[in-house]
Amino acid sequence: MAVNLLDFDLDGLAAWCEGTLGEKRYRAVQLFRWIHQKGGADFAAMSDLAKSLRAKLAEHAQVRALPLLSERVSADGTVKWLFDVGGGNAIETVFIPEEDRGTLCISSQAGCAVGCRFCSTGHQGFSRNLTTGEIVGQLWYAEHRLRAQRGLAAGERAVDNVVMMGMGEPLQNYAALVPALRVFLDDHGYGLSRRRVTVSTSGVVPMIDRLREDCPVALAVSLHAPDDALRESLVPLNRKYPLAELLAACRRYLSAAPRDFITFEYCMLDGVNDSPEHAHALARLAAGIGPGGEAWPRVPCKFNLIPFNPFPASGLVRSPRERVAAFAAILQAAGIVTTVRRTRGDDIDAACGQLAGEVLDRTQAARRLAGRRAVVPIAPSPARPTVPAQATRNAA
Ligand code: SAH
Ligand code: SF4
Repeated sequence: MAVNLLDFDLDGLAAWCEGTLGEKRYRAVQLFRWIHQKGGADFAAMSDLAKSLRAKLAEHAQVRALPLLSERVSADGTVKWLFDVGGGNAIETVFIPEEDRGTLCISSQAGCAVGCRFCSTGHQGFSRNLTTGEIVGQLWYAEHRLRAQRGLAAGERAVDNVVMMGMGEPLQNYAALVPALRVFLDDHGYGLSRRRVTVSTSGVVPMIDRLREDCPVALAVSLHAPDDALRESLVPLNRKYPLAELLAACRRYLSAAPRDFITFEYCMLDGVNDSPEHAHALARLAAGIGPGGEAWPRVPCKFNLIPFNPFPASGLVRSPRERVAAFAAILQAAGIVTTVRRTRGDDIDAACGQLAGEVLDRTQAARRLAGRRAVVPIAPSPARPTVPAQATRNAA
């Protein structure tokens, strides 16, 4: 199959251009700009490339994003795309527009092996890693589709922020992730600043350290509990990388991070992790005091409280609004900036189950055509598309 040029960061593309086509680096830069800045996929239209090069590209390469299964637009402007990753599986990409910016939520895997109790992707299990091209292709598709829809002028961008918060654990697909991040950051690519690209992880400690060295972007860590026993019951990975080690890695990360804090995500589960005692314990953790009063790494942080997005198999319930507010107030009183995420795209989320059903039907049809049998159910993405609503800094 032809090489997919979305699989390369700029250095990779330059090496491929030189090795396969015998072309100099500046040609790779031109090509990279055509693909990522202009959304080009048709080599014949890349007018400032030599005809001979265009012919060689047509012979050896393609710009190939994942096949689109559906697009849903919410009344609040949130857009959800479902892409086919084969084998009866789909991944989601979500665009969340706000007044002054647009955020794209990107998937890194089909399914996820971590298996968090409150996450529908985790319940679905792991199907496969996405390739670099499949990760980059989500931004490539969204950016250029939105630009075209909105008639944006050259130089105007639709996506200002990228968050790796879709399906999958990005740090368990590290080899594909890092080149994708480099494409997002590259001035010849999407030119996003490191502060505007966020990797969210359930806490793969060694890979947090590698990311710090290879490509330090903003880091969000899914905490969900203030002690190991509770966290283990929610995030099984905690058995391998307990809280003290995770916080130490966060602390180390800050030496290279583009921001001077780590964002802790905390999914609010009714009667599970949402009591005032849990909030006080979290405030102590942030101050460097472990659950037994011992000294732990102190991590400058912000908290992002996420109202749980329920799904039947979880057996869990969203914390009531007042409990979330009381929880936030305790953290804020301890001087920690705390946001409560506002749910976005409710109406298309409400259609989420229907969407999955529809896709499953289509996939079954495709499988019948392909003469295959097995059907893997398609689950919706872990988190609803959500954005911070109220940020309040305590005077302390
Ligand atoms: N695997 C990474 C990134 C993807 S999940 C991680 O776990 O961080 C993105 C965020 O959505 C995480 O903070 C995750 O805890 C949260 N999330 C997962 N399922 C959720 C649900 N049902 N309701 C609300 N948030 C959820
Ligand atoms: Fe995987 Fe993140 Fe879901 Fe946990 S919350 S199962 S790490 S996608």
